[in-house]
Amino acid sequence: MINLFYLILVILIGLVIGSFLNCFIWRLHEDESVGGRSYCPKCRHQIAWYDNIPVLSFIFLKAKCRHCHQPISWQYPLVEIATAILFVLLFFKNISSASFALLMMRDWLLVSALIVIFVYDLRWQLVPMGVVWSMCVLMLVFNILLGYSWVLIIISALVATAFFWIQYILTKKKGLGEGDIWLGLLLGLSFPNFSHLLAILIISYGAGSLVSLILLLVKKKHRKSRIALGPFLAFGAIITLIWGDQLINWYLGLFS
Ligand SMILES: [Zn+2]
Repeated sequence: MINLFYLILVILIGLVIGSFLNCFIWRLHEDESVGGRSYCPKCRHQIAWYDNIPVLSFIFLKAKCRHCHQPISWQYPLVEIATAILFVLLFFKNISSASFALLMMRDWLLVSALIVIFVYDLRWQLVPMGVVWSMCVLMLVFNILLGYSWVLIIISALVATAFFWIQYILTKKKGLGEGDIWLGLLLGLSFPNFSHLLAILIISYGAGSLVSLILLLVKKKHRKSRIALGPFLAFGAIITLIWGDQLINWYLGLFS
């Protein structure tokens, strides 16, 4: 009973935060402040509260703006639903932990930032650096409060940054963007754990190769055109944040 109550509460929080993330992604791109009423990105008409309810408004409006009848992007409901699901998974992952409140704040914050990075880089092939820098500071503080040794945090941050920096130099700045180096720094600070960092790399490079191969087969992309690495790194980090330990145990179990 109490679990059902928490489940519904966390889903609602996730939907509302997801709705905020959509708005934040747009305003970050337009370089606007986060305050002020929401508006339609196409006709700039203000959106009434009843047209701004996560997921439901998208369904009732049949994916079209009430005023200009232009289609509303599928990004809106998808980000809201994904945020709700990820919030629930992280909530139940941390529920029996002694430092529940701190872990919950860190994980919800990190997953929100990773969702923003994922969508932003997918849409505009740019890593939002403001988000990366502020999260670097926050994750450092949270992980020190959670009792990680700061020596370990700094070593993992250096190793992760160096990994992407070397790749950046070796591929003559074509394999990945400068933003990916700093995304590496953020991952190192957020995951002061070398098996987790390795899991992120395997998942993101694996998913990246798979998607490139599929795009090449359906001839959507030429061999020369590049796809951004950021969304894959964000994806790998989200999976590792939730299932990192299970994946590592499963992998190690293969050899015993
Ligand atoms: Zn409109």
